[in-house]
Amino acid sequence: MEVRRSKELFEEAKKYIPGGVNSPVRAFKSVGGTPRFIAKAKGSHIWDVDGNEYVDYVCSWGPMILGHAHPAVVEAIKEQAEKGTSFGAPTELEVELAKMIVDLVPGVEKVRMVNSGTEATMSAIRLARGYTRRNKVIKFEGGYHGHVDALLVKAGSGLTTFGVPTSPGIPEDFAKHTITVPFNDIDALKRVIDEVGDDVAAVIMEPVMANAGLIIPEDGYLEKVRELTAEKGIVLIFDEVITGFRLSLGGAQEYFGITPDLSCFGKIIGGGLPVGAFGGKKEIMDYLAPEGPVYQAGTLSGNPLAMVAGIATLRELQKEGVYESLRKKMEKLAEGLREAARKAGIEDKLCFKRIESISIVYFTSKDVKNYQDALTSNTKAYAAFFQKMLEQGIYLAPSQFEVAFMSTAHTDEDIEKTIEAAEVAFREVAD
Ligand code: PLP
Repeated sequence: MEVRRSKELFEEAKKYIPGGVNSPVRAFKSVGGTPRFIAKAKGSHIWDVDGNEYVDYVCSWGPMILGHAHPAVVEAIKEQAEKGTSFGAPTELEVELAKMIVDLVPGVEKVRMVNSGTEATMSAIRLARGYTRRNKVIKFEGGYHGHVDALLVKAGSGLTTFGVPTSPGIPEDFAKHTITVPFNDIDALKRVIDEVGDDVAAVIMEPVMANAGLIIPEDGYLEKVRELTAEKGIVLIFDEVITGFRLSLGGAQEYFGITPDLSCFGKIIGGGLPVGAFGGKKEIMDYLAPEGPVYQAGTLSGNPLAMVAGIATLRELQKEGVYESLRKKMEKLAEGLREAARKAGIEDKLCFKRIESISIVYFTSKDVKNYQDALTSNTKAYAAFFQKMLEQGIYLAPSQFEVAFMSTAHTDEDIEKTIEAAEVAFREVAD
Protein backbone atom coordinates (compact mmCIF):
# COMPACT_ATOMS: atom_id res chain seq x y z
CA MET A 1 0.00 0.00 0.00
CA GLU A 2 1.42 3.38 -1.07
CA VAL A 3 1.37 5.93 1.74
CA ARG A 4 3.96 8.39 0.48
CA ARG A 5 1.80 11.49 0.76
CA SER A 6 0.65 10.61 4.28
CA LYS A 7 4.30 10.13 5.25
CA GLU A 8 5.28 13.51 3.78
CA LEU A 9 2.39 15.26 5.47
CA PHE A 10 3.18 13.64 8.80
CA GLU A 11 6.76 14.92 8.61
CA GLU A 12 5.49 18.37 7.64
CA ALA A 13 2.85 18.32 10.38
CA LYS A 14 5.44 17.51 13.04
CA LYS A 15 7.18 20.79 12.25
CA TYR A 16 4.12 22.83 13.13
CA ILE A 17 1.91 20.71 15.38
CA PRO A 18 3.18 18.88 18.48
CA GLY A 19 3.62 15.26 17.44
CA GLY A 20 2.02 16.15 14.12
CA VAL A 21 -1.50 15.64 15.43
CA ASN A 22 -4.22 17.47 17.29
CA SER A 23 -5.13 14.51 19.49
CA PRO A 24 -2.47 12.00 20.56
CA VAL A 25 -3.96 8.64 19.54
CA ARG A 26 -4.08 9.78 15.91
CA ALA A 27 -0.28 9.56 15.75
CA PHE A 28 -0.37 5.70 15.64
CA LYS A 29 2.21 5.59 18.45
CA SER A 30 0.92 2.38 19.98
CA VAL A 31 0.61 0.51 16.67
CA GLY A 32 3.52 2.06 14.75
CA GLY A 33 3.59 2.98 11.08
CA THR A 34 2.34 6.06 9.30
CA PRO A 35 -0.89 7.69 10.40
CA ARG A 36 -3.16 8.05 7.41
CA PHE A 37 -4.04 11.63 6.51
CA ILE A 38 -7.65 11.51 5.46
CA ALA A 39 -8.78 13.38 2.39
CA LYS A 40 -12.48 12.54 2.31
CA ALA A 41 -15.15 10.23 3.62
CA LYS A 42 -18.54 9.02 2.50
CA GLY A 43 -20.83 6.55 4.25
CA SER A 44 -18.76 3.79 5.83
CA HIS A 45 -15.64 4.52 3.80
CA ILE A 46 -12.71 6.91 4.16
CA TRP A 47 -9.98 7.76 1.64
CA ASP A 48 -6.48 8.85 2.52
CA VAL A 49 -4.39 11.42 0.67
CA ASP A 50 -2.68 8.65 -1.34
CA GLY A 51 -6.05 7.51 -2.65
CA ASN A 52 -6.31 4.36 -0.50
CA GLU A 53 -9.84 3.43 0.50
CA TYR A 54 -10.79 1.92 3.87
CA VAL A 55 -13.88 0.59 5.59
CA ASP A 56 -13.98 2.80 8.67
CA TYR A 57 -14.76 1.40 12.13
CA VAL A 58 -13.38 4.39 14.03
CA CYS A 59 -16.22 6.62 12.82
CA SER A 60 -14.42 9.68 14.18
CA TRP A 61 -14.34 7.89 17.57
CA GLY A 62 -18.09 7.50 17.68
CA PRO A 63 -19.94 10.52 16.32
CA MET A 64 -20.50 9.22 12.79
CA ILE A 65 -23.32 6.81 13.65
CA LEU A 66 -24.99 7.66 10.33
CA GLY A 67 -21.73 7.23 8.44
CA HIS A 68 -19.79 10.09 6.90
CA ALA A 69 -21.35 12.98 4.99
CA HIS A 70 -24.90 11.76 5.50
CA PRO A 71 -27.06 13.73 3.04
CA ALA A 72 -29.48 15.01 5.71
CA VAL A 73 -26.61 16.28 7.87
CA VAL A 74 -24.72 17.82 4.95
CA GLU A 75 -27.85 19.57 3.72
CA ALA A 76 -28.64 20.95 7.18
CA ILE A 77 -25.10 22.32 7.57
CA LYS A 78 -25.12 23.91 4.11
CA GLU A 79 -28.45 25.57 4.69
CA GLN A 80 -27.41 26.91 8.07
CA ALA A 81 -24.01 28.14 6.83
CA GLU A 82 -25.85 30.45 4.43
CA LYS A 83 -27.72 31.93 7.37
CA GLY A 84 -24.69 32.52 9.57
CA THR A 85 -22.35 30.36 11.59
CA SER A 86 -22.35 31.93 15.05
CA PHE A 87 -24.37 34.66 16.70
CA GLY A 88 -23.46 34.53 20.39
CA ALA A 89 -27.15 34.95 21.10
CA PRO A 90 -29.93 32.42 21.71
CA THR A 91 -31.42 30.56 18.74
CA GLU A 92 -34.49 28.43 18.11
CA LEU A 93 -32.14 25.61 17.08
CA GLU A 94 -30.71 25.30 20.59
CA VAL A 95 -34.23 24.98 21.98
CA GLU A 96 -35.04 22.30 19.42
CA LEU A 97 -31.98 20.17 20.17
CA ALA A 98 -32.36 20.64 23.93
CA LYS A 99 -36.00 19.56 23.71
CA MET A 100 -35.07 16.49 21.69
CA ILE A 101 -32.48 15.45 24.29
CA VAL A 102 -34.89 16.08 27.17
CA ASP A 103 -37.64 14.09 25.42
CA LEU A 104 -35.37 11.16 24.60
CA VAL A 105 -33.11 10.76 27.62
CA PRO A 106 -34.85 9.65 30.83
CA GLY A 107 -32.56 11.45 33.30
CA VAL A 108 -32.42 14.80 31.53
CA GLU A 109 -34.92 17.49 32.47
CA LYS A 110 -32.72 20.40 31.44
CA VAL A 111 -29.57 20.48 29.34
CA ARG A 112 -26.79 22.91 28.53
CA MET A 113 -24.73 22.81 25.35
CA VAL A 114 -20.95 23.05 25.36
CA ASN A 115 -18.31 22.39 22.70
CA SER A 116 -16.79 19.02 23.62
CA GLY A 117 -17.18 16.02 25.86
CA THR A 118 -14.35 17.36 28.00
CA GLU A 119 -16.23 20.57 28.66
CA ALA A 120 -19.34 18.57 29.50
CA THR A 121 -17.65 16.46 32.19
CA MET A 122 -15.66 19.40 33.55
CA SER A 123 -18.81 21.47 33.93
CA ALA A 124 -20.88 18.60 35.33
CA ILE A 125 -18.29 18.09 38.06
CA ARG A 126 -18.19 21.78 38.93
CA LEU A 127 -21.98 21.78 39.10
CA ALA A 128 -22.07 18.66 41.30
CA ARG A 129 -19.53 20.24 43.65
CA GLY A 130 -21.40 23.54 43.73
CA TYR A 131 -24.71 21.83 44.34
CA THR A 132 -23.52 19.53 47.11
CA ARG A 133 -20.90 21.91 48.55
CA ARG A 134 -18.60 18.91 48.73
CA ASN A 135 -15.16 18.37 47.14
CA LYS A 136 -14.31 14.77 46.34
CA VAL A 137 -15.05 13.01 43.09
CA ILE A 138 -14.92 9.27 42.55
CA LYS A 139 -14.09 7.87 39.14
CA PHE A 140 -13.24 4.41 37.86
CA GLU A 141 -9.92 2.91 36.85
CA GLY A 142 -9.52 3.19 33.11
CA GLY A 143 -12.49 5.56 32.82
CA TYR A 144 -11.81 8.42 30.42
CA HIS A 145 -13.78 11.62 30.68
CA GLY A 146 -11.74 13.90 28.48
CA HIS A 147 -8.68 15.86 29.51
CA VAL A 148 -10.14 17.57 32.56
CA ASP A 149 -7.43 18.15 35.20
CA ALA A 150 -9.36 16.52 38.00
CA LEU A 151 -10.22 13.49 35.89
CA LEU A 152 -6.80 12.70 34.45
CA VAL A 153 -6.07 10.72 37.51
CA LYS A 154 -5.26 7.07 37.95
CA ALA A 155 -5.21 4.89 41.02
CA GLY A 156 -1.94 4.40 42.83
CA SER A 157 -1.28 1.18 44.67
CA GLY A 158 -4.05 -0.06 46.89
CA LEU A 159 -7.75 0.24 46.30
CA THR A 160 -8.51 3.51 47.95
CA THR A 161 -5.39 5.42 47.02
CA PHE A 162 -5.98 9.09 46.59
CA GLY A 163 -5.39 10.54 43.18
CA VAL A 164 -2.05 10.79 41.47
CA PRO A 165 -2.12 12.93 38.34
CA THR A 166 -1.57 10.97 35.11
CA SER A 167 -0.03 13.95 33.36
CA PRO A 168 2.54 16.54 34.36
CA GLY A 169 0.91 19.92 34.59
CA ILE A 170 -1.79 18.82 36.99
CA PRO A 171 -0.97 19.97 40.51
CA GLU A 172 -1.32 17.23 43.10
CA ASP A 173 -3.57 19.62 44.97
CA PHE A 174 -6.10 19.37 42.13
CA ALA A 175 -5.85 15.64 41.80
CA LYS A 176 -6.05 14.88 45.49
CA HIS A 177 -9.80 15.36 45.39
CA THR A 178 -10.20 12.57 42.87
CA ILE A 179 -10.41 8.99 44.01
CA THR A 180 -10.22 6.07 41.65
CA VAL A 181 -11.86 2.68 42.21
CA PRO A 182 -12.09 -0.46 40.07
CA PHE A 183 -15.20 -0.92 37.92
CA ASN A 184 -17.59 -3.81 38.59
CA ASP A 185 -16.57 -3.93 42.26
CA ILE A 186 -19.31 -2.48 44.43
CA ASP A 187 -17.47 -3.26 47.68
CA ALA A 188 -14.52 -1.10 46.62
CA LEU A 189 -16.87 1.80 45.97
CA LYS A 190 -18.61 1.27 49.31
CA ARG A 191 -15.29 1.22 51.15
CA VAL A 192 -14.15 4.47 49.59
CA ILE A 193 -17.43 6.22 50.28
CA ASP A 194 -17.31 5.07 53.90
CA GLU A 195 -13.71 6.21 54.22
CA VAL A 196 -14.25 9.67 52.75
CA GLY A 197 -17.45 10.22 54.62
CA ASP A 198 -19.73 13.01 53.54
CA ASP A 199 -17.31 14.92 51.33
CA VAL A 200 -18.06 13.00 48.12
CA ALA A 201 -19.74 15.36 45.65
CA ALA A 202 -19.99 13.02 42.67
CA VAL A 203 -19.40 9.60 41.26
CA ILE A 204 -18.66 9.91 37.55
CA MET A 205 -18.74 6.84 35.35
CA GLU A 206 -19.01 5.63 31.84
CA PRO A 207 -21.94 3.25 32.39
CA VAL A 208 -20.30 1.02 29.80
CA MET A 209 -16.58 1.72 29.77
CA ALA A 210 -15.46 2.28 26.22
CA ASN A 211 -12.04 3.86 26.61
CA ALA A 212 -10.23 0.88 28.07
CA GLY A 213 -11.48 -1.37 25.37
CA LEU A 214 -15.07 -2.29 26.18
CA ILE A 215 -16.00 -3.09 29.76
CA ILE A 216 -19.61 -4.00 30.34
CA PRO A 217 -21.25 -3.59 33.75
CA GLU A 218 -22.12 -6.88 35.42
CA ASP A 219 -25.78 -7.57 36.17
CA GLY A 220 -26.96 -5.42 39.04
CA TYR A 221 -23.79 -3.33 39.30
CA LEU A 222 -25.20 -0.03 38.03
CA GLU A 223 -28.29 -0.50 40.21
CA LYS A 224 -26.06 -0.83 43.26
CA VAL A 225 -24.03 2.25 42.30
CA ARG A 226 -27.30 4.15 41.96
CA GLU A 227 -28.59 2.96 45.33
CA LEU A 228 -25.37 3.74 47.13
CA THR A 229 -25.00 7.24 45.70
CA ALA A 230 -28.66 8.10 46.32
CA GLU A 231 -28.35 6.94 49.91
CA LYS A 232 -25.37 9.25 50.52
CA GLY A 233 -26.64 12.31 48.62
CA ILE A 234 -23.85 11.92 46.04
CA VAL A 235 -24.53 13.20 42.52
CA LEU A 236 -24.30 10.26 40.12
CA ILE A 237 -22.94 11.41 36.75
CA PHE A 238 -23.20 9.13 33.75
CA ASP A 239 -20.65 10.09 31.17
CA GLU A 240 -22.62 9.13 28.07
CA VAL A 241 -20.29 10.84 25.62
CA ILE A 242 -19.92 7.47 23.87
CA THR A 243 -23.01 5.56 25.01
CA GLY A 244 -25.48 8.44 24.51
CA PHE A 245 -27.68 7.83 21.45
CA ARG A 246 -25.42 4.82 20.74
CA LEU A 247 -26.75 2.05 22.99
CA SER A 248 -30.27 3.34 22.44
CA LEU A 249 -31.98 6.67 21.83
CA GLY A 250 -32.04 7.24 25.57
CA GLY A 251 -28.43 6.09 25.99
CA ALA A 252 -27.13 3.65 28.59
CA GLN A 253 -29.54 5.01 31.18
CA GLU A 254 -32.51 3.90 29.12
CA TYR A 255 -30.79 0.68 28.07
CA PHE A 256 -30.12 -0.40 31.65
CA GLY A 257 -33.06 1.40 33.26
CA ILE A 258 -30.88 3.39 35.69
CA THR A 259 -31.41 7.13 36.02
CA PRO A 260 -28.37 9.22 36.98
CA ASP A 261 -28.62 12.74 38.42
CA LEU A 262 -26.50 14.29 35.68
CA SER A 263 -25.46 13.04 32.24
CA CYS A 264 -22.75 14.14 29.83
CA PHE A 265 -22.97 13.94 26.07
CA GLY A 266 -20.84 14.71 23.04
CA LYS A 267 -19.98 12.94 19.80
CA ILE A 268 -23.31 11.83 18.26
CA ILE A 269 -25.30 14.88 19.38
CA GLY A 270 -23.09 17.06 17.19
CA GLY A 271 -23.37 14.89 14.08
CA GLY A 272 -19.61 15.26 13.53
CA LEU A 273 -19.31 18.91 14.57
CA PRO A 274 -17.70 19.96 17.84
CA VAL A 275 -20.36 19.62 20.51
CA GLY A 276 -20.92 18.48 24.05
CA ALA A 277 -23.79 18.81 26.50
CA PHE A 278 -24.58 18.07 30.08
CA GLY A 279 -27.98 17.78 31.62
CA GLY A 280 -30.02 16.24 34.37
CA LYS A 281 -32.39 17.00 37.17
CA LYS A 282 -33.92 20.48 37.05
CA GLU A 283 -33.08 21.06 40.67
CA ILE A 284 -29.38 20.55 40.01
CA MET A 285 -29.25 22.19 36.57
CA ASP A 286 -30.87 25.35 37.95
CA TYR A 287 -27.74 25.84 40.04
CA LEU A 288 -26.05 26.98 36.84
CA ALA A 289 -25.55 30.64 35.98
CA PRO A 290 -27.49 32.76 35.18
CA GLU A 291 -30.20 31.01 37.23
CA GLY A 292 -27.86 29.86 39.97
CA PRO A 293 -24.41 30.49 41.41
CA VAL A 294 -22.27 27.95 39.49
CA TYR A 295 -20.51 29.68 36.60
CA GLN A 296 -20.30 28.07 33.18
CA ALA A 297 -20.20 29.70 29.74
CA GLY A 298 -18.99 29.46 26.12
CA THR A 299 -18.57 31.81 23.14
CA LEU A 300 -19.50 29.11 20.64
CA SER A 301 -21.79 27.02 22.87
CA GLY A 302 -25.01 26.10 21.08
CA ASN A 303 -23.31 26.90 17.79
CA PRO A 304 -25.95 26.89 15.03
CA LEU A 305 -23.98 24.66 12.65
CA ALA A 306 -23.44 22.10 15.37
CA MET A 307 -27.09 22.32 16.42
CA VAL A 308 -28.45 21.62 12.95
CA ALA A 309 -26.02 18.72 12.46
CA GLY A 310 -27.13 17.30 15.81
CA ILE A 311 -30.82 17.78 15.10
CA ALA A 312 -30.52 16.11 11.68
CA THR A 313 -28.62 13.19 13.23
CA LEU A 314 -31.10 12.64 16.05
CA ARG A 315 -33.98 12.82 13.57
CA GLU A 316 -32.45 10.05 11.49
CA LEU A 317 -31.83 7.96 14.58
CA GLN A 318 -35.51 8.16 15.53
CA LYS A 319 -36.56 6.35 12.38
CA GLU A 320 -37.99 2.85 12.78
CA GLY A 321 -35.54 0.00 13.24
CA VAL A 322 -32.28 1.97 13.27
CA TYR A 323 -30.91 0.54 16.52
CA GLU A 324 -32.01 -3.00 15.72
CA SER A 325 -30.22 -2.82 12.40
CA LEU A 326 -27.06 -1.40 13.99
CA ARG A 327 -27.07 -4.18 16.56
CA LYS A 328 -27.59 -6.91 13.97
CA LYS A 329 -24.75 -5.63 11.85
CA MET A 330 -22.38 -5.54 14.80
CA GLU A 331 -23.53 -9.02 15.82
CA LYS A 332 -22.73 -10.27 12.35
CA LEU A 333 -19.30 -8.65 12.40
CA ALA A 334 -18.44 -9.86 15.90
CA GLU A 335 -19.55 -13.41 15.17
CA GLY A 336 -17.62 -13.37 11.91
CA LEU A 337 -14.48 -12.18 13.67
CA ARG A 338 -14.78 -14.89 16.27
CA GLU A 339 -15.17 -17.51 13.55
CA ALA A 340 -12.16 -16.06 11.72
CA ALA A 341 -10.13 -16.32 14.93
CA ARG A 342 -11.29 -19.91 15.41
CA LYS A 343 -10.17 -20.81 11.89
CA ALA A 344 -6.80 -19.20 12.58
CA GLY A 345 -6.54 -21.24 15.80
CA ILE A 346 -6.29 -18.25 18.16
CA GLU A 347 -9.84 -17.91 19.47
CA ASP A 348 -8.74 -18.89 22.98
CA LYS A 349 -6.12 -16.14 23.03
CA LEU A 350 -8.74 -13.46 22.45
CA CYS A 351 -11.57 -11.91 24.40
CA PHE A 352 -14.54 -10.64 22.40
CA LYS A 353 -16.85 -8.03 23.86
CA ARG A 354 -19.84 -6.42 22.23
CA ILE A 355 -22.81 -4.33 23.24
CA GLU A 356 -25.25 -3.05 20.64
CA SER A 357 -23.16 -1.36 17.93
CA ILE A 358 -19.85 -1.22 19.87
CA SER A 359 -17.34 -4.05 19.99
CA ILE A 360 -13.74 -4.99 20.66
CA VAL A 361 -11.34 -7.87 20.31
CA TYR A 362 -8.88 -7.90 23.20
CA PHE A 363 -5.73 -9.85 22.61
CA THR A 364 -5.96 -11.60 25.95
CA SER A 365 -7.37 -14.91 27.09
CA LYS A 366 -8.77 -13.22 30.20
CA ASP A 367 -12.46 -12.40 30.42
CA VAL A 368 -12.14 -8.61 30.67
CA LYS A 369 -14.28 -7.18 33.47
CA ASN A 370 -12.17 -4.24 34.57
CA TYR A 371 -9.19 -2.12 33.61
CA GLN A 372 -6.60 -4.43 35.15
CA ASP A 373 -7.96 -7.30 33.03
CA ALA A 374 -7.81 -5.07 29.95
CA LEU A 375 -4.15 -4.33 30.67
CA THR A 376 -3.29 -8.01 30.25
CA SER A 377 -3.79 -7.57 26.49
CA ASN A 378 -0.91 -8.25 24.18
CA THR A 379 -0.64 -4.83 22.59
CA LYS A 380 2.11 -5.99 20.22
CA ALA A 381 -0.17 -8.66 18.81
CA TYR A 382 -2.93 -6.07 18.44
CA ALA A 383 -0.53 -3.75 16.59
CA ALA A 384 0.35 -6.54 14.15
CA PHE A 385 -3.34 -7.34 13.64
CA PHE A 386 -4.16 -3.67 13.15
CA GLN A 387 -1.44 -3.21 10.50
CA LYS A 388 -2.53 -6.28 8.57
CA MET A 389 -6.13 -5.07 8.60
CA LEU A 390 -5.10 -1.59 7.50
CA GLU A 391 -3.11 -3.00 4.60
CA GLN A 392 -6.27 -4.80 3.49
CA GLY A 393 -8.36 -1.63 3.61
CA ILE A 394 -9.91 -1.96 7.05
CA TYR A 395 -9.46 1.04 9.34
CA LEU A 396 -9.64 -0.05 12.98
CA ALA A 397 -8.74 2.08 15.98
CA PRO A 398 -4.96 2.54 16.25
CA SER A 399 -4.98 1.30 19.85
CA GLN A 400 -5.92 -1.94 21.59
CA PHE A 401 -7.92 0.09 24.09
CA GLU A 402 -10.28 1.75 21.64
CA VAL A 403 -13.46 0.16 20.33
CA ALA A 404 -15.01 -0.40 16.92
CA PHE A 405 -18.22 1.41 16.02
CA MET A 406 -20.86 0.37 13.52
CA SER A 407 -22.76 2.98 11.53
CA THR A 408 -26.03 2.83 9.65
CA ALA A 409 -23.96 3.20 6.47
CA HIS A 410 -21.96 -0.04 6.85
CA THR A 411 -23.09 -2.65 4.36
CA ASP A 412 -23.08 -6.45 4.42
CA GLU A 413 -20.33 -6.25 1.86
CA ASP A 414 -18.21 -4.10 4.20
CA ILE A 415 -18.73 -6.58 6.99
CA GLU A 416 -17.90 -9.59 4.81
CA LYS A 417 -14.76 -7.88 3.55
CA THR A 418 -13.75 -7.15 7.14
CA ILE A 419 -14.22 -10.76 8.23
CA GLU A 420 -12.19 -12.05 5.28
CA ALA A 421 -9.41 -9.59 6.08
CA ALA A 422 -9.50 -10.64 9.73
CA GLU A 423 -8.99 -14.27 8.80
CA VAL A 424 -5.74 -13.31 7.07
CA ALA A 425 -4.69 -10.96 9.89
CA PHE A 426 -5.42 -13.45 12.69
CA ARG A 427 -3.41 -16.12 10.83
CA GLU A 428 -0.47 -13.78 10.56
CA VAL A 429 -0.65 -12.92 14.27
CA ALA A 430 -0.99 -16.61 15.16
CA ASP A 431 2.24 -17.52 13.28
N1 PLP B 1 -16.06 11.13 27.91
C1 PLP B 1 -15.93 10.01 27.19
C2 PLP B 1 -16.59 8.76 27.66
C3 PLP B 1 -15.17 10.00 26.01
O1 PLP B 1 -15.04 8.88 25.32
C4 PLP B 1 -14.57 11.21 25.60
C5 PLP B 1 -13.75 11.25 24.38
O2 PLP B 1 -13.41 10.28 23.78
C6 PLP B 1 -14.74 12.35 26.37
C7 PLP B 1 -15.49 12.29 27.52
C8 PLP B 1 -14.12 13.64 25.96
O3 PLP B 1 -14.77 14.13 24.83
P1 PLP B 1 -14.02 15.18 23.86
O4 PLP B 1 -12.93 14.40 23.19
O5 PLP B 1 -15.11 15.63 22.93
O6 PLP B 1 -13.52 16.28 24.71
